[in-house]
Amino acid sequence: MVWAPARLTVLAGPSGVGKGAVAALLAERHPKVYLSVSATTRPPRPGEVEGENYFFVTRPVFEAAARAGELLEWAEYNGNLYGTPRPAVEDALGAGRPALLEIDLAGARQVRQTMPGALQVFLMPPTWAELERRLIGRGTEGPAERLRRLATAEREVQARGEFDFVLTNDDLGETVGRLAVIMGLN
Ligand code: ADP
Ligand code: 5GP
Repeated sequence: MVWAPARLTVLAGPSGVGKGAVAALLAERHPKVYLSVSATTRPPRPGEVEGENYFFVTRPVFEAAARAGELLEWAEYNGNLYGTPRPAVEDALGAGRPALLEIDLAGARQVRQTMPGALQVFLMPPTWAELERRLIGRGTEGPAERLRRLATAEREVQARGEFDFVLTNDDLGETVGRLAVIMGLN
């Protein structure tokens, strides 16, 4: 059998583990990788740019897109809706670009059903204390939302066995290097 590089990769893991940082450095090192830009009903954080970090939409707009089949997958995470716009990912794959979806556990499970050929990668923090430090250090959530995210993180981490690969995001550069290898990038 000829081994083919992964075309669609799912990157999941607890909030604050570094999914965004890993995805950004991967795309910087490998510009052919398409990073999917999700739609969300979550309000923008200071500094987040429409169309770059997310497409920020209202709940009715999001729900209409989901009903129209325009989302490859979608899920509710801590009270907000998040979903992957289908056409951009299909265009990238059609153009021969590897695509990366940075999504939550529920979304990863949907992709496992609908696109079983996708590579599924779970990012783990080196320690629980380090995950808390990164979430606090990022400074984008208040204490209540942070606690909620850590509770969700406990459930997500328990599901890591469902994934093809589990990478511990200790050193960022090394993590990106290992992800590139398993995605078959060069
Ligand atoms: P996620 O997208 O998983 O919620 P982020 O990419 O926003 O997480 O990362 C959370 C914080 O941790 C950010 O401040 C980021 O710079 C930092 N971070 C990410 N990866 C590492 C790493 N390997 N070592 C130290 N800090 C990291
Ligand atoms: P945040 O609010 O920190 O940007 O994202 C919260 C969670 O939503 C993270 O686990 C992130 O991976 C996930 N997420 C972001 N975009 C999507 C998406 O399009 N679909 C799904 N299912 N989850 C997403």
